[in-house]
Amino acid sequence: MPEQHQDCSNCHIQACYSQTPDNGPQFCPTKTKQSSIRAALDLYKSDPDIKKMAITAARTEGRSYMKWTRVEDTIDFAREMGYRKIGIATCLGLMEEDRILQKILMVHGFNVVSVCCKCGAIPKEEIGLLDNEKAKPGTFEPICNPVAQAKILEEAGTDLNILLGLCVGHDTLFTKYSRAPVTTLVAKDRITCHNPNAVLHGTGFYYMRLLQP
Ligand code: SF4
Repeated sequence: MPEQHQDCSNCHIQACYSQTPDNGPQFCPTKTKQSSIRAALDLYKSDPDIKKMAITAARTEGRSYMKWTRVEDTIDFAREMGYRKIGIATCLGLMEEDRILQKILMVHGFNVVSVCCKCGAIPKEEIGLLDNEKAKPGTFEPICNPVAQAKILEEAGTDLNILLGLCVGHDTLFTKYSRAPVTTLVAKDRITCHNPNAVLHGTGFYYMRLLQP
């Protein structure tokens, strides 16, 4: 087993959410990582883009708290940031949700461009996958193409890109190549109907297997 680090997951005090943050444990980053914390604060105060995004996100959180869904949060954040054109990087499996999201965003005044993960129709073999590594060997399977999704949305001039159900790793690549800032609306998890937190809540029984080596 890898070594267990002393980090926030070992803390049951959460003194950082109080006016007495010195009450945290010895390993608390509020005490031990002051240079990173000060560097971040400097950015929030001195970089106009970071400052605007940080304040806008906090204001959206304040207005939304215990009232709004994530879709509403996304609309509010985008509107308050002054974004006009929104990109959707969608999974093929969520095309219906993509259409509904597009409709909602348009009702709220945004221009929307959506691009599907399978764009390009490039066979998986072309980037080096073997037939037996595919989800359904013996069939045509195009790669998910998050780099192309990012480039197509860059060409469209989107101000904000929304991740709609991209797979693990493909979301990583999209985020790496996206020119516009990215927010996730749906995290792909076919088994839990895209609610990966269900697994973290379910390790007492259904997902106990994940705690075994
Ligand atoms: S930042 Fe400090 S107080 Fe907050 S959870 Fe981490 S260790 Fe605990």
